[in-house]
Amino acid sequence: MIEIDLYSDTQTRPSKPMREAMAKAEVGDEQQGSDPTVNALNERVADLLGKEDALFLPSGTMCNQIALLVHCRPGEEVICDRTAHIVTSEGGGGAALASVMFNTVDGERGIFTAAQAEAAIRPDSRYAPRSKLVEVEQTNNRGGGSVWPLEKLRAVTAVARKHKLSLHMDGARLMNAQVASGVKAREFAKEVDTVWLDLTKGLACPLGAVLAGPKDFIAECWRWKQRMGGSMRQAGIVAAAGLYALDHNIDRLAQDHANAKALAKGLAEIPGIAVEPVETNLVFFDISGTGIKGRDFNAALMKLGVRVSLNDDRRLRALTHLDIPASAIPKALDAFRRVAMRN
Ligand SMILES: *Cc1c(COP(=O)(O)O)cnc(C)c1O
Repeated sequence: MIEIDLYSDTQTRPSKPMREAMAKAEVGDEQQGSDPTVNALNERVADLLGKEDALFLPSGTMCNQIALLVHCRPGEEVICDRTAHIVTSEGGGGAALASVMFNTVDGERGIFTAAQAEAAIRPDSRYAPRSKLVEVEQTNNRGGGSVWPLEKLRAVTAVARKHKLSLHMDGARLMNAQVASGVKAREFAKEVDTVWLDLTKGLACPLGAVLAGPKDFIAECWRWKQRMGGSMRQAGIVAAAGLYALDHNIDRLAQDHANAKALAKGLAEIPGIAVEPVETNLVFFDISGTGIKGRDFNAALMKLGVRVSLNDDRRLRALTHLDIPASAIPKALDAFRRVAMRN
């Protein structure tokens, strides 16, 4: 049995008080815009992110895909880091649905510079795809849970604005960026046209994500939500979890970050393990020095009740979250030690 699940921050189960909030939710027909709890959540997120309007969607992936569909025409190009979730982990949706091209940039821990973004912009020529959108991930997932510093983000957005490109932020873990940096989410969000928050990552809800942006943009997103089957009915029952999470689960992310740092510190002391810098709740580490392959390492860990995820055969990822108390870290480290030392 997996006792300490560091696979992802998506592995949380809704807490008792969250379930109580869900049970009490007032509901209506979300598809017709008459679910009061969903409407309250949309208003709340629009306000939190300083945007005119917001739209509740079943997942973060749907937020990204609908944003691509509304921002871009087929054949247009999106500039983003090569590690971006929108490129690596959405089933090729950018090509299959919005028919966009990705022009990926080789950032540092997923964070690229204004010069790199500018160099990726195509000339205005009938031969070239039209550069349309710059996409940034805050925090960046595969880059290491890294936080875009406001200054670097501003430099990139200035270049995009200069060339009249639109800007989209994948804010799956935007609240982690707020807590880690002390910069308000709306300050980051101000730099982009559209931005979304995932409710199922550190915020620990069972499902849902909220996409925010200008009023006319969100109106167009509604059409795609309907078209793709993302319109719901009494969705207030899950939106209530989102409202509960915004009240109770943001500031506590600091605990996840502290646990991640403690985990990283312990891992770094194990021979054969090299740990990447930790900024938020993601801990990436290279186990090649142990001589054990990633898959085998995780299989051995799982026998000891601990699970992580594999980036590749040498790079593993552990995430901390609401269901990982501080007391689980020494226990997890003990399992890592035993596997690395093969005893
Ligand atoms: C998890 C994640 C997504 C997708 O969100 P889902 O709600 O799982 O569809 C998108 N971007 C990033 C950076 C993520 O970590």
